[in-house]
Amino acid sequence: MDRHIRNIVIAGGGSAGWMVAAALSNALQANCTITLIESEEIGTVGVGEATIPPILRFNQTLGIDEAEFVRATQGSFKLGIQFVNWGKLGHSYFHPFGSFGRNFDMVGVHDYWQAAYEAGQATGLDDYCMAWSAAKRNKFAPPSQDPRHVLSTYDYAYHFDAGLYAALLRRYAEAKGVQRQEGKIIDVALNAESGFVESVTLNDGRSFKGDLFIDCSGFRGMLIEGALKTGYQDWTHWLPCDRALAVPCASTADFTPYTRSTAHTAGWQWRIPLQHRTGNGHVYASPFISDEEAAAVLMDNLDGEALADPRPLRFTTGRRNLFWNRNVVAIGLSSGFMEPLESTSLYLIQSGIAKLLTLFPDRDFDPVLSDEFNRQTRIEFERIRDFIVLHYKLTERDDSPLWRYCANMDIPDSLSEAIHLFRRYGKIVPRELDLFGHPSWLAVHIGQMNFPERIDPLAKHRTADGTAWLAKFRSVIESAAESLPGHQDFITRAGMSSARG
Ligand SMILES: Cc1cc2nc3c(=O)[nH]c(=O)nc-3n(C[C@H](O)[C@H](O)[C@H](O)COP(=O)(O)OP(=O)(O)OC[C@H]3O[C@@H](n4cnc5c(N)ncnc54)[C@H](O)[C@@H]3O)c2cc1C
Repeated sequence: MDRHIRNIVIAGGGSAGWMVAAALSNALQANCTITLIESEEIGTVGVGEATIPPILRFNQTLGIDEAEFVRATQGSFKLGIQFVNWGKLGHSYFHPFGSFGRNFDMVGVHDYWQAAYEAGQATGLDDYCMAWSAAKRNKFAPPSQDPRHVLSTYDYAYHFDAGLYAALLRRYAEAKGVQRQEGKIIDVALNAESGFVESVTLNDGRSFKGDLFIDCSGFRGMLIEGALKTGYQDWTHWLPCDRALAVPCASTADFTPYTRSTAHTAGWQWRIPLQHRTGNGHVYASPFISDEEAAAVLMDNLDGEALADPRPLRFTTGRRNLFWNRNVVAIGLSSGFMEPLESTSLYLIQSGIAKLLTLFPDRDFDPVLSDEFNRQTRIEFERIRDFIVLHYKLTERDDSPLWRYCANMDIPDSLSEAIHLFRRYGKIVPRELDLFGHPSWLAVHIGQMNFPERIDPLAKHRTADGTAWLAKFRSVIESAAESLPGHQDFITRAGMSSARG
């Protein structure tokens, strides 16, 4: 008997809802109706403006042209994140999309770097990174496809206006047949026997039945939590920031091809340059600062004229106990949230979609599929959590109650092991489903002052002249960076400027 999914209902039309709608309408070419329900009155969070490189794959899979996308979303390019005042006050480092140096020996570049640095024969680790060399000069071009070229040693992502991206995806999804319904879901009907969701009812009385429901309703998790009571693990004790204030300001000449994250006394501030404005936000821990003080810190640290009043947002860092429960799959903020320090939320939406398509069910909803979905998503969330906690735990800052709290807090065992392995021998061991690879962990360990006590013992058995190699590499990346166009020039010349759109 044919048991295929005939009706999919997506609850919510924020970034998650429209990313899901676009991807499913592209993948499911026949025999399925997709309905998306959203409420203009409720609105969206709408602040996901910084991304990481996998977003390129998402757009490519949908067949979205890069120039059209950047133009339509007032987008800009991102080579990584600069962290200011995180390791200690007055210090900064770069978490790049790409590598430090490039491997030239069995022993890692960073071991050679550390030996040379300790001997006073090398400068900071960032100076050996192609992405930073370009970023600090406000230069940008896509990487070279020739793996022998030093310009192939970095990657990139985008900054964009989240509302404009959702609008672009909406046009895409509607053109592929997704039916958008405006209205507020006020009731969810469950099957008395199975507990599966059967239908949702809107405030105007209309009901929509579905075989599969995707909960993209944001923090409230209307279906996964409101209807199915799935439960939530609160990680606030590890990631104490629980509020944010977001405000756009006028663009300045400093059109950086990177995000800046500046640590303050009770949180941190993002700066995301778009073509038409700069996005800013102060993410803070409410036990350590009042909302008024947090707003003052934000407004005092804008580099252009504020274009609106700060918009408050509240959240509880953590994850759902299950991401796929019965016939409901939670994607986006309904599945959990980790603060935006490493721009991971839109990626988790993308990853949720990819897993759903890999493990796509029929109407039997065999738990073998949902169990695997939940296993992979749980691991992914925990790896990202560990990586974000790393930034808070490793700091040398002790100038305020938040940083003293972080220095003394317990951390997950998995992170504790990773910190000690690096501290003892500079080792970073790849872990299953870890979004962040070796260069990312290295950047944050070193940037936050977790210097290894010993260099890889294998280095003592090698004969390569790492110091000379580093000096040469540095001069090669500097001249390669000089040869790149400016960030704004690249956007204009590539026809990506929204002024032309
Ligand atoms: C301070 C902050 C900064 C962030 N920065 C970044 C970043 O830089 N990079 C990044 O990747 N991510 C970031 N994020 C996360 C990112 O904003 C979200 O992942 C993304 O916007 C997806 O949100 P969503 O669609 O799940 O939820 P929402 O945007 O909240 O959308 C929910 C949708 O559900 C609808 N809805 C809710 N209830 C009902 C109902 N009863 N009936 C009908 N419709 C309903 C709403 O109308 C809306 O359409 C940030 C988040 C925060 C809080």
